Amino acid sequence: MNTNRITLMPDALANQIAAGEVVERPVSVVKELVENALDAGATQITVWLEEAGIELIDVQDNGVGIVADDLPLAVERHATSKVKSYDDLACVASLGFRGEALASIASVSQFSLVSYHPTEPHAWLLQNQVDGRWSPLAPTAAPLGTRIKVASLFYNTPARRKFLKTPRAEFTQIEDYLKRTLLVNQHLGLRLIHNAKQVFDFVPAIEPAKYLTRLAALLGEAFVEQSLHISQSLPGVNLEGWVSLPTYHRGLADKQFVFVNGRIVRDRQLLQAVKLAYADVLYHGRHPVFVVFINVPFDQVDVNVHPAKYEVRFQHARQVYDHVRRAIRDAIMQPLVMGQEGATR
Ligand code: ADP
Ligand code: MG
Repeated sequence: MNTNRITLMPDALANQIAAGEVVERPVSVVKELVENALDAGATQITVWLEEAGIELIDVQDNGVGIVADDLPLAVERHATSKVKSYDDLACVASLGFRGEALASIASVSQFSLVSYHPTEPHAWLLQNQVDGRWSPLAPTAAPLGTRIKVASLFYNTPARRKFLKTPRAEFTQIEDYLKRTLLVNQHLGLRLIHNAKQVFDFVPAIEPAKYLTRLAALLGEAFVEQSLHISQSLPGVNLEGWVSLPTYHRGLADKQFVFVNGRIVRDRQLLQAVKLAYADVLYHGRHPVFVVFINVPFDQVDVNVHPAKYEVRFQHARQVYDHVRRAIRDAIMQPLVMGQEGATR
């Protein structure tokens, strides 16, 4: 009587375990859904939340949609339309590629997906049932695009639900994430509604002037007035963004944003490179404000380091960090040298 026999886990359990990695809290769900919408080419996204997403996260996009035949696959683990071979991994341009987000989220929530692809006669609805099985596809009415509702997050994994913070704290994380998304996706219109109240409604910022309005709304009028626009193309690195002048600084390092190839990253060394640019001009304990977009060829950066994908690994890390530090340093030193202050745009 051997009790140590090896068995395959039921799919539902495997998905719940994967969910432990991908779906830590409501903001992780929002992030996965919004990234899917962006990958689908959406230019308008609406997010409805109830109780900071703990009760409901509902994300609607006007992206390309999913054909009926693919709908059951979309919620299957390891099902993705974005990566087909190991080689593809070297040049991932999409935000997602693991094909596990929807399956994971669906395994720990009451989940429904409505999608209307232009080649279908109408929209289709797919939802999971309490027993974890999927209902058959049902025709429904909806605009072109996709809408996913995630209700009662972690209702079937009480240990995880218990670890959620207060709705206030969970909401702040979601709002922060969406604001970062707005910083980097200037062509995106994004509306957030929480407990039936509109929190914000950003229209697409197509012209540069509109982007400055968006920047002012997100980071403050003062930052826009006391910042420099940088734009530099160097071999292997393209740098662009807004960096505060030495006259504008904060007591907290809380308004510092770095994006690599359109992804939000939290790379300590990269942040450090920017901070070093200010080393000679800011007092100890004061922090610059910046929004920096770095673009490097897709095959020179590995974004595959972590499931939540906040870390990146550059092939020529030293070179990237040096470029970043030097470009910003040169930019902020310039007005000091010329004895002028204020934004140049
Ligand atoms: P991944 O994004 O890693 O491919 P997901 O589980 O997040 O995996 O999504 C699985 C697949 O479902 C995607 O590859 C995509 O084809 C499809 N999909 C998911 N969300 C959307 C959406 N909002 N619009 C269009 N297609 C979507
Ligand atoms: Mg995804």
